[in-house]
Amino acid sequence: MKFVDIKSEVIEKHKKEFDEYYDFLMTENSKYNLTGITEKEDVFIKHFEDSLAGAEFLPQCASVLDVGSGAGFPGIPLAIVRRDLSVFLLDGNGKKCRFLSSCVEMLNLSGVKVVCGRAEEAASEDFHRERYDAVLSRAVAPLPSLLELCLPFVKIGGVFLSYKGKCVREEIEASSSALTLLGGKIAGVHPYVLDGGFGERSLVVIEKISPTPSKYPRGRGLERKKPL
Ligand code: SAM
Repeated sequence: MKFVDIKSEVIEKHKKEFDEYYDFLMTENSKYNLTGITEKEDVFIKHFEDSLAGAEFLPQCASVLDVGSGAGFPGIPLAIVRRDLSVFLLDGNGKKCRFLSSCVEMLNLSGVKVVCGRAEEAASEDFHRERYDAVLSRAVAPLPSLLELCLPFVKIGGVFLSYKGKCVREEIEASSSALTLLGGKIAGVHPYVLDGGFGERSLVVIEKISPTPSKYPRGRGLERKKPL
């Protein structure tokens, strides 16, 4: 197992953009109910720094989809520090999509697009299906459900990065049949520690090794109600 080394210096280097992002998030928070974390240091570490944990797993110029991006995590912090990426932020909540679009415009993130829709519907569209080098998701669903929502978007040979808490063993154990059915394989589990005693997290890296059959995701909420 390898510890992911998150560099707070990376945030320091892009401090102007992260400060603007923080200010905008706080201004809009009352309108859109975006995050319960509001202290500046907490937001910088628990949201911004945490989001960057995936950076080293994203190839140069990769196309990246953030499923259930919410207030932009992890997609926006990654797009700020990695201008080479093409980042798509997907969310099913119209208000959050409006926030994301304003944020992308305000930060002048020309490589970022907002996709407003449900993952289970977008995953069946040709434009999105098996088109991304990397798919990311943080705080959206337990791993077995998430695999069905996210793996259909990943190209063969690409990766799905699932941002999780410290304890992931049970979720991984519960995911074995979903992985087999959907064409995924766990490539590694990378634990990391947030700065300032803000706790431990894990990044689960899943490789896409074979095509996902077209019947997945099943839709009608089955991904969550009846995980594979
Ligand atoms: N990823 C962000 C983060 O780490 O702070 C947001 C997490 S928030 C708890 C979950 C987000 O996922 C919400 O914005 C919700 O609208 C979105 N979401 C949940 N299920 C979804 C689905 N099936 N398709 C698209 N968006 C979804």
